[in-house]
Amino acid sequence: MPELPEVEVTRRRLERELAGKRIERVTVRAPKLRLPVPAELAKVLPGRTVRTVGRRGKYLLFFCDGGCLVIHLGMTGFLRLLPGETPPGKHDHLDVVLADGRVLRFHDPRKFGSVLWTTGNPLEHPLLAGIGPEPLTPSFDGAYLFAASRSRSVAVKLFIMNAAVVAGVGNIYANEALFRARIHPARPARSLSRDECDRLAETVKEVLAESVEQGSTYRVAEETVAYHPLEFRVYGRGGVACTVCGAILEETRLGNRSTVFCPRCQV
Ligand SMILES: [Zn+2]
Repeated sequence: MPELPEVEVTRRRLERELAGKRIERVTVRAPKLRLPVPAELAKVLPGRTVRTVGRRGKYLLFFCDGGCLVIHLGMTGFLRLLPGETPPGKHDHLDVVLADGRVLRFHDPRKFGSVLWTTGNPLEHPLLAGIGPEPLTPSFDGAYLFAASRSRSVAVKLFIMNAAVVAGVGNIYANEALFRARIHPARPARSLSRDECDRLAETVKEVLAESVEQGSTYRVAEETVAYHPLEFRVYGRGGVACTVCGAILEETRLGNRSTVFCPRCQV
């Protein structure tokens, strides 16, 4: 599943490629993904110019003159920038053909992605309005985490994976951030001290930023928007020795998601 760093790497690459480019034509092949694909896209997008490409949580925001195309990659979606004559394959649900001849193509085998069009402020769209602060901005810090967690008895790992608490912290990054902050993933969120909240906010930023950094420098196939993930210290390493203390990492499930932690380092 594309995680926040992958979406951010995609955003950076697409912003470089698309800013200032005019849209010539749009083909919608799937009437419905997770939500219906707006039928008017083929009418309203041509002739508009992409100004910037933004991101809110895992939503990509293609700001055009007078409106915004919003794409969520879902579980299996990805975007490719291809020569215009490339024939569409199976699961290629949307083509945005640019005036320079290239095509931005959305491919999504499981169809859990979303495509929206809004002429209003996309940040106020019902799907985006409830998303918590962006983890890589100053609005997300220890003071915020501390205040937000005081009445929450849910496990801290599930707490930070809740998009209403903080945007886009997926399972992998929650595991890694808690390990680096030396906090047991099953602790009730409200049991964290202010100090621990400071550490956790810091390590959430760290793991996401490192992954974006690695993804940005990774050499991807020319037409494919892809990324290279972080080197994991706990995720997928249950039963293996902790890189810090040598204890055997334990694996359990929280909220039905794989959770790996060091029983000695994380208290
Ligand atoms: Zn350890």
